Amino acid sequence: MEKLLTVVVVLFSFIVVLLLGLIGFLTFYVLRQNKNTAEEKAKKKFEDEEDKKNIHGFCLNHSGVHAQGTCAICENSFCEKCLWEHEKTLFCPEHYRLFMDNKWVELIQVQSTPDKPESALALYDLKAQSWKNKVPTYIVTHYKINFEGDQIESHVSLWGREQEASELNLQLQLLSKK
Ligand SMILES: [Zn+2]
Ligand SMILES: [Zn+2]
Repeated sequence: MEKLLTVVVVLFSFIVVLLLGLIGFLTFYVLRQNKNTAEEKAKKKFEDEEDKKNIHGFCLNHSGVHAQGTCAICENSFCEKCLWEHEKTLFCPEHYRLFMDNKWVELIQVQSTPDKPESALALYDLKAQSWKNKVPTYIVTHYKINFEGDQIESHVSLWGREQEASELNLQLQLLSKK
């Protein structure tokens, strides 16, 4: 009888150890999966941002010529020859003309810091949305080093054409209420 009890206890302990091992392994596995997806997401986001800057891209007008920057209005990539500058803002030839032919007004200026970038994101959203409806806008960013906080502030401003300013302002108000 005692012998049978010992066998049962040993067997039971064995099963418990086996189960604990299994749980441990599964936890480890799930955690590792989560970590991998988080890392992949972060990496993907970084790559997307790099793509936006178009470091590896080619000029839209000259295939085979490396792009040096993007147009502030259409955000397509162009080579040095195709980018025309006005007060440090770059435009493609088509949109440089559009820029010169219109009166532009600053719609809004926001300040964002590396630990609080979301205030500027709304401006990029509105710019993308407007461009889908062929309403041109452009964004100007000025960087300033804040010595007190020891961080870089960026002053981001959105510019639109005078004739579309009131409509764009309305959309800005709607965005800020969200
Ligand atoms: Zn353009
Ligand atoms: Zn070009």
